[in-house]
Amino acid sequence: MSARVEVHGHTVSPEHYIDGARVGSPTTFEDRSPIDGSLLANVCRGDAATADAAIGAAVRAFPAWSALGPEGRAPYLHRLAELIDAHVDHIAEVECWDMAMLERSLKARVIGRGARNFRAYADLSCEYEERLWQSNGTTNRVVRNSSGPAVVITPWNAPFMLSTWKTAPALAAGCTVVLKPAEWSPLSCSMLFDLVDQAGFPPGVFNLVQGIGEEVGAALVADTRVRRLSFTGSPETARHIGHAGAENIVPFTAELGGKNPFLVFADADLDAAAAKAALQYDDAGQVCLSGTRLLVEESVADDFLARFHAQVDRHVLGDPHDEATTISPLIHPDHLARVSGFVERARSAGDEIVRGGQQPDIGGLWYEPTLIRPQSNDSEVVQHEVFGPVLTIQTFATEAEAIELANSTAYGLSGILFTGSAERADRIGRAVRAGTFWVNCFLVRDLTAPFGGAGISGIGREGGDFALDFYSDLKTLQILDGTVS
Ligand code: NAD
Repeated sequence: MSARVEVHGHTVSPEHYIDGARVGSPTTFEDRSPIDGSLLANVCRGDAATADAAIGAAVRAFPAWSALGPEGRAPYLHRLAELIDAHVDHIAEVECWDMAMLERSLKARVIGRGARNFRAYADLSCEYEERLWQSNGTTNRVVRNSSGPAVVITPWNAPFMLSTWKTAPALAAGCTVVLKPAEWSPLSCSMLFDLVDQAGFPPGVFNLVQGIGEEVGAALVADTRVRRLSFTGSPETARHIGHAGAENIVPFTAELGGKNPFLVFADADLDAAAAKAALQYDDAGQVCLSGTRLLVEESVADDFLARFHAQVDRHVLGDPHDEATTISPLIHPDHLARVSGFVERARSAGDEIVRGGQQPDIGGLWYEPTLIRPQSNDSEVVQHEVFGPVLTIQTFATEAEAIELANSTAYGLSGILFTGSAERADRIGRAVRAGTFWVNCFLVRDLTAPFGGAGISGIGREGGDFALDFYSDLKTLQILDGTVS
Protein backbone atom coordinates (compact mmCIF):
# COMPACT_ATOMS: atom_id res chain seq x y z
CA MET A 1 0.00 0.00 0.00
CA SER A 2 1.11 3.58 -0.51
CA ALA A 3 2.70 4.94 2.63
CA ARG A 4 0.65 8.16 2.71
CA VAL A 5 -2.70 9.21 1.35
CA GLU A 6 -4.06 12.55 0.23
CA VAL A 7 -6.99 13.79 2.35
CA HIS A 8 -8.39 17.02 0.91
CA GLY A 9 -5.01 18.66 0.47
CA HIS A 10 -3.25 17.04 3.45
CA THR A 11 -1.08 13.94 3.35
CA VAL A 12 -1.87 11.51 6.13
CA SER A 13 -0.37 8.14 7.00
CA PRO A 14 -2.86 5.26 7.15
CA GLU A 15 -0.25 3.13 8.92
CA HIS A 16 0.56 2.31 12.53
CA TYR A 17 3.50 3.96 14.28
CA ILE A 18 5.51 1.38 16.22
CA ASP A 19 9.01 1.59 17.68
CA GLY A 20 9.62 4.97 16.06
CA ALA A 21 8.58 4.02 12.52
CA ARG A 22 5.53 3.72 10.30
CA VAL A 23 4.48 0.09 9.91
CA GLY A 24 1.87 -1.38 7.58
CA SER A 25 -0.55 -4.29 7.84
CA PRO A 26 -1.64 -6.86 5.26
CA THR A 27 -5.28 -5.80 5.55
CA THR A 28 -7.07 -2.47 5.81
CA PHE A 29 -10.45 -1.00 6.70
CA GLU A 30 -12.29 1.80 4.94
CA ASP A 31 -12.51 5.20 6.58
CA ARG A 32 -15.29 7.32 5.04
CA SER A 33 -16.23 10.93 5.69
CA PRO A 34 -19.54 11.50 7.50
CA ILE A 35 -19.97 14.67 5.44
CA ASP A 36 -20.34 13.11 2.01
CA GLY A 37 -19.59 9.41 2.42
CA SER A 38 -16.40 9.74 0.38
CA LEU A 39 -13.55 7.31 1.01
CA LEU A 40 -10.82 9.15 2.92
CA ALA A 41 -8.37 6.29 3.40
CA ASN A 42 -7.89 2.57 3.59
CA VAL A 43 -6.41 2.39 7.06
CA CYS A 44 -4.18 -0.41 8.36
CA ARG A 45 -6.14 -3.03 10.20
CA GLY A 46 -3.97 -4.15 13.10
CA ASP A 47 -4.12 -7.73 14.39
CA ALA A 48 -2.65 -9.75 17.22
CA ALA A 49 0.84 -9.52 15.69
CA THR A 50 0.54 -5.71 15.50
CA ALA A 51 -0.51 -5.54 19.16
CA ASP A 52 2.39 -7.79 20.12
CA ALA A 53 4.89 -5.62 18.22
CA ALA A 54 3.58 -2.36 19.71
CA ILE A 55 3.56 -3.62 23.27
CA GLY A 56 6.98 -5.21 22.78
CA ALA A 57 8.32 -1.81 21.70
CA ALA A 58 6.69 -0.10 24.69
CA VAL A 59 8.17 -2.71 27.06
CA ARG A 60 11.67 -2.21 25.66
CA ALA A 61 11.44 1.58 25.81
CA PHE A 62 10.06 1.72 29.35
CA PRO A 63 13.24 1.45 31.51
CA ALA A 64 15.01 4.38 29.83
CA TRP A 65 11.90 6.58 29.55
CA SER A 66 10.90 6.09 33.18
CA ALA A 67 14.49 6.66 34.33
CA LEU A 68 14.51 10.12 32.72
CA GLY A 69 12.30 11.44 35.52
CA PRO A 70 9.70 14.20 35.07
CA GLU A 71 12.30 16.88 34.20
CA GLY A 72 13.95 14.66 31.62
CA ARG A 73 10.63 13.82 29.95
CA ALA A 74 9.09 17.29 30.04
CA PRO A 75 11.08 18.73 27.09
CA TYR A 76 9.68 16.03 24.77
CA LEU A 77 6.13 16.87 25.80
CA HIS A 78 6.77 20.60 25.40
CA ARG A 79 8.22 20.05 21.92
CA LEU A 80 5.16 18.03 20.97
CA ALA A 81 2.88 20.79 22.31
CA GLU A 82 4.69 23.38 20.18
CA LEU A 83 4.36 21.19 17.10
CA ILE A 84 0.64 20.70 17.71
CA ASP A 85 0.18 24.45 18.06
CA ALA A 86 1.97 24.92 14.74
CA HIS A 87 -0.27 22.36 12.99
CA VAL A 88 -3.70 23.16 14.46
CA ASP A 89 -5.30 24.14 11.15
CA HIS A 90 -3.87 21.15 9.32
CA ILE A 91 -5.13 18.66 11.96
CA ALA A 92 -8.48 20.47 12.29
CA GLU A 93 -9.15 20.29 8.55
CA VAL A 94 -8.55 16.54 8.45
CA GLU A 95 -10.54 15.87 11.63
CA CYS A 96 -13.43 17.90 10.21
CA TRP A 97 -13.57 15.57 7.18
CA ASP A 98 -13.05 12.50 9.35
CA MET A 99 -15.42 13.17 12.27
CA ALA A 100 -17.46 16.14 11.03
CA MET A 101 -16.98 18.29 14.10
CA LEU A 102 -17.35 21.98 13.19
CA GLU A 103 -14.12 23.17 11.60
CA ARG A 104 -14.21 26.51 13.41
CA SER A 105 -14.52 24.82 16.85
CA LEU A 106 -11.67 22.47 15.99
CA LYS A 107 -9.47 25.37 14.92
CA ALA A 108 -10.43 27.74 17.73
CA ARG A 109 -10.28 25.42 20.73
CA VAL A 110 -10.49 21.64 20.36
CA ILE A 111 -7.18 20.75 18.68
CA GLY A 112 -5.29 23.36 20.71
CA ARG A 113 -6.50 21.61 23.85
CA GLY A 114 -4.21 18.76 22.79
CA ALA A 115 -1.18 21.06 23.02
CA ARG A 116 -2.39 22.35 26.38
CA ASN A 117 -2.70 18.79 27.68
CA PHE A 118 0.93 17.95 26.87
CA ARG A 119 2.18 21.26 28.26
CA ALA A 120 0.10 21.09 31.43
CA TYR A 121 1.11 17.53 32.29
CA ALA A 122 4.77 18.17 31.56
CA ASP A 123 4.69 21.04 34.07
CA LEU A 124 2.47 19.35 36.64
CA SER A 125 4.61 16.21 36.76
CA CYS A 126 7.67 18.37 37.55
CA GLU A 127 5.81 20.19 40.35
CA TYR A 128 5.02 17.04 42.32
CA GLU A 129 5.95 17.39 45.97
CA GLU A 130 6.42 14.12 47.79
CA ARG A 131 4.33 14.02 50.94
CA LEU A 132 6.79 13.83 53.85
CA TRP A 133 5.92 13.09 57.50
CA GLN A 134 7.19 11.51 60.69
CA SER A 135 5.47 8.60 62.42
CA ASN A 136 6.48 5.71 64.69
CA GLY A 137 10.08 6.89 64.73
CA THR A 138 10.34 6.80 60.93
CA THR A 139 10.35 9.34 58.12
CA ASN A 140 7.70 8.57 55.49
CA ARG A 141 7.57 9.72 51.88
CA VAL A 142 5.08 9.09 49.11
CA VAL A 143 7.10 8.37 45.97
CA ARG A 144 5.71 8.08 42.44
CA ASN A 145 7.20 5.22 40.41
CA SER A 146 6.27 5.01 36.73
CA SER A 147 4.01 1.99 36.38
CA GLY A 148 4.99 0.51 32.99
CA PRO A 149 3.52 0.26 29.49
CA ALA A 150 -0.01 1.68 29.22
CA VAL A 151 -2.68 0.91 26.63
CA VAL A 152 -4.99 3.83 25.84
CA ILE A 153 -8.20 3.18 23.89
CA THR A 154 -10.24 6.16 22.70
CA PRO A 155 -13.62 6.87 21.05
CA TRP A 156 -14.49 8.48 17.73
CA ASN A 157 -15.76 11.80 19.08
CA ALA A 158 -13.12 14.56 19.42
CA PRO A 159 -10.54 11.85 18.65
CA PHE A 160 -7.40 14.01 18.68
CA MET A 161 -8.18 15.93 21.87
CA LEU A 162 -9.47 12.93 23.81
CA SER A 163 -6.41 10.85 22.95
CA THR A 164 -4.06 13.60 24.20
CA TRP A 165 -6.10 13.96 27.40
CA LYS A 166 -5.09 10.43 28.34
CA THR A 167 -1.69 9.97 26.73
CA ALA A 168 -0.18 13.25 28.00
CA PRO A 169 -0.38 12.29 31.71
CA ALA A 170 0.69 8.71 30.93
CA LEU A 171 3.86 9.89 29.17
CA ALA A 172 4.54 12.60 31.77
CA ALA A 173 4.27 9.98 34.53
CA GLY A 174 6.88 7.84 32.75
CA CYS A 175 4.66 5.21 31.17
CA THR A 176 5.32 4.17 27.62
CA VAL A 177 2.11 4.18 25.61
CA VAL A 178 0.24 2.28 22.91
CA LEU A 179 -2.72 4.31 21.65
CA LYS A 180 -5.57 2.77 19.68
CA PRO A 181 -8.03 5.34 18.32
CA ALA A 182 -11.52 4.46 17.13
CA GLU A 183 -11.99 3.00 13.65
CA TRP A 184 -14.62 5.58 12.63
CA SER A 185 -12.23 8.56 12.91
CA PRO A 186 -8.62 7.36 12.88
CA LEU A 187 -6.83 10.05 10.87
CA SER A 188 -6.15 12.99 13.20
CA CYS A 189 -4.51 10.64 15.71
CA SER A 190 -2.26 9.41 12.92
CA MET A 191 -1.25 13.04 12.32
CA LEU A 192 -0.27 13.30 15.99
CA PHE A 193 2.36 10.63 15.34
CA ASP A 194 3.97 12.61 12.53
CA LEU A 195 4.55 15.22 15.23
CA VAL A 196 5.71 12.64 17.81
CA ASP A 197 8.32 11.63 15.24
CA GLN A 198 9.40 15.23 14.67
CA ALA A 199 9.55 15.87 18.42
CA GLY A 200 12.22 13.14 18.64
CA PHE A 201 10.60 10.82 21.17
CA PRO A 202 12.80 7.75 21.69
CA PRO A 203 11.53 4.75 19.66
CA GLY A 204 8.88 2.70 21.45
CA VAL A 205 7.88 5.40 23.94
CA PHE A 206 4.69 6.43 22.12
CA ASN A 207 3.10 3.99 19.67
CA LEU A 208 -0.03 4.07 17.52
CA VAL A 209 -2.03 1.03 16.48
CA GLN A 210 -4.98 1.35 14.10
CA GLY A 211 -7.75 -1.16 13.74
CA ILE A 212 -11.01 -2.63 14.92
CA GLY A 213 -11.82 -2.68 18.63
CA GLU A 214 -12.81 -6.34 18.84
CA GLU A 215 -9.63 -7.34 16.97
CA VAL A 216 -6.49 -5.38 17.77
CA GLY A 217 -8.12 -3.52 20.69
CA ALA A 218 -8.97 -6.79 22.41
CA ALA A 219 -5.44 -8.13 21.78
CA LEU A 220 -3.87 -5.00 23.29
CA VAL A 221 -5.89 -5.00 26.49
CA ALA A 222 -5.37 -8.74 27.05
CA ASP A 223 -1.56 -8.54 26.87
CA THR A 224 -0.06 -9.46 30.25
CA ARG A 225 2.88 -7.04 29.81
CA VAL A 226 0.57 -4.00 30.02
CA ARG A 227 0.50 -2.26 33.42
CA ARG A 228 -2.24 0.35 32.90
CA LEU A 229 -5.45 0.39 30.85
CA SER A 230 -7.14 3.70 30.16
CA PHE A 231 -10.36 3.72 28.20
CA THR A 232 -12.88 6.27 26.98
CA GLY A 233 -16.00 4.95 25.26
CA SER A 234 -19.21 3.10 25.97
CA PRO A 235 -20.09 1.10 29.10
CA GLU A 236 -20.54 -2.01 26.89
CA THR A 237 -16.92 -1.94 25.73
CA ALA A 238 -15.71 -1.00 29.22
CA ARG A 239 -17.08 -4.32 30.48
CA HIS A 240 -14.87 -6.22 27.99
CA ILE A 241 -11.81 -4.16 28.83
CA GLY A 242 -12.54 -4.43 32.55
CA HIS A 243 -12.57 -8.23 32.24
CA ALA A 244 -9.10 -8.13 30.69
CA GLY A 245 -7.90 -5.76 33.43
CA ALA A 246 -9.30 -8.05 36.12
CA GLU A 247 -7.73 -11.14 34.51
CA ASN A 248 -4.27 -9.55 34.54
CA ILE A 249 -4.74 -7.46 37.75
CA VAL A 250 -4.16 -4.22 35.83
CA PRO A 251 -5.53 -0.88 37.07
CA PHE A 252 -8.15 0.46 34.73
CA THR A 253 -9.85 3.83 34.30
CA ALA A 254 -12.98 4.18 32.22
CA GLU A 255 -14.56 7.45 31.10
CA LEU A 256 -17.94 6.41 29.78
CA GLY A 257 -21.27 7.67 28.60
CA GLY A 258 -23.75 9.95 30.31
CA LYS A 259 -27.44 10.74 30.57
CA ASN A 260 -26.81 14.04 32.22
CA PRO A 261 -29.52 16.18 33.88
CA PHE A 262 -29.92 19.84 32.89
CA LEU A 263 -31.87 21.41 35.77
CA VAL A 264 -33.64 24.75 35.48
CA PHE A 265 -35.23 26.41 38.52
CA ALA A 266 -37.71 29.28 38.53
CA ASP A 267 -35.09 31.55 40.13
CA ALA A 268 -32.68 31.09 37.17
CA ASP A 269 -31.85 33.49 34.35
CA LEU A 270 -34.17 31.73 31.88
CA ASP A 271 -32.61 33.31 28.81
CA ALA A 272 -29.16 32.07 29.80
CA ALA A 273 -30.57 28.63 30.66
CA ALA A 274 -32.43 28.35 27.34
CA ALA A 275 -29.37 29.44 25.37
CA LYS A 276 -27.16 26.84 27.07
CA ALA A 277 -29.85 24.16 26.73
CA ALA A 278 -29.98 24.74 22.97
CA LEU A 279 -26.18 24.27 22.86
CA GLN A 280 -26.62 20.69 24.06
CA TYR A 281 -27.28 19.92 20.37
CA ASP A 282 -23.76 21.04 19.44
CA ASP A 283 -21.64 18.44 17.66
CA ALA A 284 -24.98 16.78 16.85
CA GLY A 285 -25.26 15.80 20.50
CA GLN A 286 -22.24 13.48 20.20
CA VAL A 287 -20.77 14.80 23.45
CA CYS A 288 -20.61 12.58 26.54
CA LEU A 289 -21.03 15.55 28.90
CA SER A 290 -24.14 17.01 27.23
CA GLY A 291 -27.13 17.70 29.44
CA THR A 292 -29.64 15.59 27.55
CA ARG A 293 -32.41 15.45 30.17
CA LEU A 294 -34.00 18.89 30.60
CA LEU A 295 -35.61 19.01 34.06
CA VAL A 296 -37.53 22.26 34.47
CA GLU A 297 -39.49 23.68 37.43
CA GLU A 298 -43.20 23.41 36.56
CA SER A 299 -44.02 27.06 37.19
CA VAL A 300 -41.60 28.27 34.45
CA ALA A 301 -41.75 25.29 32.08
CA ASP A 302 -43.81 27.04 29.36
CA ASP A 303 -41.77 30.21 29.61
CA PHE A 304 -38.50 28.22 29.42
CA LEU A 305 -39.74 26.12 26.52
CA ALA A 306 -40.69 29.19 24.45
CA ARG A 307 -37.21 30.63 24.92
CA PHE A 308 -35.62 27.23 24.22
CA HIS A 309 -37.52 26.85 20.93
CA ALA A 310 -36.43 30.35 19.87
CA GLN A 311 -32.80 29.38 20.48
CA VAL A 312 -33.05 26.00 18.75
CA ASP A 313 -34.69 27.67 15.73
CA ARG A 314 -31.37 29.44 15.18
CA HIS A 315 -29.49 26.17 14.64
CA VAL A 316 -28.27 25.60 11.09
CA LEU A 317 -27.74 22.04 9.85
CA GLY A 318 -25.04 21.93 7.22
CA ASP A 319 -21.48 21.28 6.15
CA PRO A 320 -19.19 21.54 9.20
CA HIS A 321 -16.70 23.51 7.10
CA ASP A 322 -19.21 26.37 6.74
CA GLU A 323 -19.09 29.24 9.22
CA ALA A 324 -22.89 29.33 9.46
CA THR A 325 -23.32 25.64 10.35
CA THR A 326 -24.04 24.76 13.96
CA ILE A 327 -25.12 21.12 13.60
CA SER A 328 -23.01 18.61 11.71
CA PRO A 329 -23.92 15.19 10.39
CA LEU A 330 -23.69 12.15 12.65
CA ILE A 331 -20.52 10.11 12.48
CA HIS A 332 -21.66 7.00 10.60
CA PRO A 333 -24.75 5.43 8.96
CA ASP A 334 -24.86 2.84 11.78
CA HIS A 335 -24.93 5.63 14.32
CA LEU A 336 -27.71 7.46 12.45
CA ALA A 337 -29.71 4.22 12.56
CA ARG A 338 -29.07 3.94 16.30
CA VAL A 339 -30.20 7.54 16.96
CA SER A 340 -33.32 7.33 14.80
CA GLY A 341 -34.10 3.93 16.34
CA PHE A 342 -34.31 5.55 19.79
CA VAL A 343 -36.69 8.21 18.46
CA GLU A 344 -38.89 5.74 16.59
CA ARG A 345 -39.18 3.47 19.62
CA ALA A 346 -40.08 6.50 21.78
CA ARG A 347 -42.74 7.53 19.24
CA SER A 348 -44.20 4.00 19.14
CA ALA A 349 -44.24 3.84 22.94
CA GLY A 350 -46.35 7.00 23.06
CA ASP A 351 -43.72 9.56 24.07
CA GLU A 352 -44.48 13.00 22.60
CA ILE A 353 -42.07 14.23 19.91
CA VAL A 354 -42.12 17.95 20.73
CA ARG A 355 -39.83 18.93 17.87
CA GLY A 356 -37.60 17.26 15.27
CA GLY A 357 -37.77 13.48 15.28
CA GLN A 358 -36.62 12.94 11.71
CA GLN A 359 -33.87 13.52 9.20
CA PRO A 360 -34.00 16.90 7.46
CA ASP A 361 -34.63 16.93 3.72
CA ILE A 362 -30.92 17.59 3.02
CA GLY A 363 -30.42 13.81 3.42
CA GLY A 364 -26.95 12.54 4.33
CA LEU A 365 -26.25 11.73 7.97
CA TRP A 366 -27.93 14.79 9.50
CA TYR A 367 -30.67 14.47 12.10
CA GLU A 368 -32.94 17.27 13.29
CA PRO A 369 -32.50 18.63 16.81
CA THR A 370 -35.14 16.63 18.63
CA LEU A 371 -37.03 17.18 21.88
CA ILE A 372 -39.14 14.43 23.43
CA ARG A 373 -41.60 14.66 26.32
CA PRO A 374 -41.60 11.12 27.73
CA GLN A 375 -44.71 9.46 29.05
CA SER A 376 -42.77 8.16 31.99
CA ASN A 377 -39.37 8.46 33.60
CA ASP A 378 -38.87 4.80 32.71
CA SER A 379 -38.97 5.55 28.98
CA GLU A 380 -35.99 4.12 27.13
CA VAL A 381 -35.03 7.55 25.77
CA VAL A 382 -34.78 8.91 29.34
CA GLN A 383 -32.83 6.01 30.76
CA HIS A 384 -30.29 5.30 27.98
CA GLU A 385 -27.64 7.39 26.27
CA VAL A 386 -28.60 8.23 22.66
CA PHE A 387 -25.40 10.16 21.81
CA GLY A 388 -27.18 12.22 19.18
CA PRO A 389 -29.22 15.46 18.95
CA VAL A 390 -32.03 14.13 21.11
CA LEU A 391 -33.08 15.77 24.40
CA THR A 392 -35.98 14.95 26.70
CA ILE A 393 -38.00 17.41 28.81
CA GLN A 394 -39.65 16.70 32.15
CA THR A 395 -40.92 18.97 34.92
CA PHE A 396 -40.68 18.93 38.70
CA ALA A 397 -42.50 20.73 41.50
CA THR A 398 -39.99 20.59 44.34
CA GLU A 399 -36.25 20.51 44.84
CA ALA A 400 -36.50 16.99 46.26
CA GLU A 401 -38.30 15.82 43.13
CA ALA A 402 -35.67 17.50 40.94
CA ILE A 403 -32.87 15.65 42.74
CA GLU A 404 -34.75 12.35 42.55
CA LEU A 405 -35.23 12.73 38.79
CA ALA A 406 -31.63 13.85 38.29
CA ASN A 407 -30.37 10.71 40.06
CA SER A 408 -32.86 8.32 38.47
CA THR A 409 -30.66 6.77 35.76
CA ALA A 410 -27.74 4.36 36.08
CA TYR A 411 -25.33 7.03 34.77
CA GLY A 412 -23.50 9.80 36.66
CA LEU A 413 -21.11 11.64 34.36
CA SER A 414 -22.08 15.32 34.61
CA GLY A 415 -24.88 17.65 35.64
CA ILE A 416 -25.86 21.21 34.82
CA LEU A 417 -27.93 23.50 37.02
CA PHE A 418 -29.38 26.95 36.37
CA THR A 419 -30.40 28.80 39.54
CA GLY A 420 -29.97 32.21 41.15
CA SER A 421 -29.61 30.77 44.64
CA ALA A 422 -26.19 30.02 46.15
CA GLU A 423 -27.73 27.72 48.77
CA ARG A 424 -29.58 25.73 46.11
CA ALA A 425 -26.44 25.53 43.98
CA ASP A 426 -24.57 24.03 46.90
CA ARG A 427 -27.36 21.65 47.96
CA ILE A 428 -28.06 20.33 44.49
CA GLY A 429 -24.44 20.36 43.42
CA ARG A 430 -23.67 18.00 46.30
CA ALA A 431 -26.79 15.84 45.95
CA VAL A 432 -26.67 15.00 42.23
CA ARG A 433 -24.61 11.93 41.33
CA ALA A 434 -22.00 13.17 38.82
CA GLY A 435 -18.25 13.43 38.28
CA THR A 436 -18.57 17.06 37.15
CA PHE A 437 -21.38 19.46 38.03
CA TRP A 438 -21.72 22.91 36.47
CA VAL A 439 -23.84 25.74 37.88
CA ASN A 440 -24.92 28.44 35.41
CA CYS A 441 -22.19 27.35 32.97
CA PHE A 442 -21.20 24.34 30.83
CA LEU A 443 -17.97 22.71 29.60
CA VAL A 444 -15.71 25.06 31.56
CA ARG A 445 -12.79 22.80 32.45
CA ASP A 446 -9.75 23.16 34.66
CA LEU A 447 -7.21 20.53 33.66
CA THR A 448 -6.10 20.08 37.27
CA ALA A 449 -9.59 19.05 38.45
CA PRO A 450 -10.56 15.38 38.77
CA PHE A 451 -12.55 14.05 35.83
CA GLY A 452 -14.61 10.89 35.53
CA GLY A 453 -18.01 9.43 36.16
CA ALA A 454 -20.10 7.85 38.90
CA GLY A 455 -22.47 4.91 38.37
CA ILE A 456 -22.03 3.32 34.93
CA SER A 457 -20.39 6.53 33.67
CA GLY A 458 -16.97 5.41 34.72
CA ILE A 459 -14.35 4.00 37.01
CA GLY A 460 -11.57 6.08 38.53
CA ARG A 461 -10.56 9.68 37.95
CA GLU A 462 -8.18 11.26 35.50
CA GLY A 463 -7.28 14.96 35.29
CA GLY A 464 -4.46 16.80 37.09
CA ASP A 465 -2.60 14.87 39.78
CA PHE A 466 -5.33 12.22 39.74
CA ALA A 467 -4.14 11.13 36.29
CA LEU A 468 -0.46 11.28 37.24
CA ASP A 469 -1.21 9.13 40.31
CA PHE A 470 -3.14 6.64 38.15
CA TYR A 471 -0.22 6.15 35.79
CA SER A 472 2.19 5.73 38.75
CA ASP A 473 2.75 3.10 41.37
CA LEU A 474 2.55 5.15 44.56
CA LYS A 475 5.08 3.88 47.07
CA THR A 476 5.48 4.58 50.77
CA LEU A 477 9.20 4.87 51.50
CA GLN A 478 9.93 4.60 55.24
CA ILE A 479 13.36 5.13 56.84
CA LEU A 480 14.05 4.52 60.52
CA ASP A 481 15.01 7.86 62.04
CA GLY A 482 18.62 8.27 63.14
CA THR A 483 19.90 5.37 61.04
CA VAL A 484 21.04 7.24 57.93
CA SER A 485 22.89 10.53 57.52
P1 NAD B 1 -16.98 2.28 21.89
O1 NAD B 1 -17.01 1.76 23.28
O2 NAD B 1 -17.78 1.60 20.85
O3 NAD B 1 -15.48 2.30 21.33
C1 NAD B 1 -14.46 3.00 22.00
C2 NAD B 1 -13.12 2.38 21.62
O4 NAD B 1 -13.07 1.05 22.10
C3 NAD B 1 -12.85 2.32 20.13
O5 NAD B 1 -11.49 2.64 19.88
C4 NAD B 1 -13.09 0.85 19.80
O6 NAD B 1 -12.37 0.39 18.69
C5 NAD B 1 -12.59 0.21 21.07
N1 NAD B 1 -13.10 -1.15 21.33
C6 NAD B 1 -14.31 -1.68 20.98
N2 NAD B 1 -14.39 -2.96 21.40
C7 NAD B 1 -13.23 -3.24 22.02
C8 NAD B 1 -12.72 -4.40 22.70
N3 NAD B 1 -13.44 -5.53 22.80
N4 NAD B 1 -11.48 -4.34 23.25
C9 NAD B 1 -10.76 -3.21 23.16
N5 NAD B 1 -11.18 -2.09 22.53
C10 NAD B 1 -12.41 -2.09 21.99
O7 NAD B 1 -17.38 3.82 22.02
P2 NAD B 1 -17.58 4.86 20.83
O8 NAD B 1 -18.86 4.55 20.14
O9 NAD B 1 -16.31 4.99 20.06
O10 NAD B 1 -17.74 6.22 21.65
C11 NAD B 1 -18.95 6.70 22.13
C12 NAD B 1 -19.06 6.47 23.62
O11 NAD B 1 -17.96 7.08 24.30
C13 NAD B 1 -20.30 7.13 24.20
O12 NAD B 1 -20.86 6.28 25.16
C14 NAD B 1 -19.74 8.38 24.87
O13 NAD B 1 -20.53 8.93 25.90
C15 NAD B 1 -18.43 7.87 25.38
N6 NAD B 1 -17.50 8.97 25.67
C16 NAD B 1 -17.18 9.24 26.97
C17 NAD B 1 -16.33 10.30 27.27
C18 NAD B 1 -15.97 10.64 28.69
O14 NAD B 1 -15.03 11.39 28.88
N7 NAD B 1 -16.66 10.12 29.68
C19 NAD B 1 -15.81 11.08 26.22
C20 NAD B 1 -16.16 10.77 24.92
C21 NAD B 1 -17.00 9.70 24.64
